[in-house]
Amino acid sequence: MKPYKNKINRIRSFALSLIFIGVVIMYLGIFFRSNEIIMLIFMVLGLLAILGSTVVYAWIGTLSTKAVQIVCPNCGKATKMLGRVDMCGHCREPLTLDPSLEGKEFDESYNRPNRQNEQTDKK
Ligand SMILES: [Zn+2]
Repeated sequence: MKPYKNKINRIRSFALSLIFIGVVIMYLGIFFRSNEIIMLIFMVLGLLAILGSTVVYAWIGTLSTKAVQIVCPNCGKATKMLGRVDMCGHCREPLTLDPSLEGKEFDESYNRPNRQNEQTDKK
């Protein structure tokens, strides 16, 4: 299996796991019913995790509008990609918008803008 996942899918699964973490934390708080302060801390932490996931979901929404919709050459399905290189959300085929990177080995560092900054800093 290829090691990278489509970015939007990855953020989405992160937001989903935040909801589960929040629920689990709140559930754990029930075991501390005898101590109201600890229970309250667990409840607040759980609530924060769930609120955090809503923020992440809103963030995905803005990202999706910026993402480029393309048809994957490998599986023929429409997928959205972020940055210069990304993965197909269906078959994990590496995709690129930059023709100079085509055929090169997939590397997430192509997405980091600091590569160009390094060069300008040296001048
Ligand atoms: Zn595909």
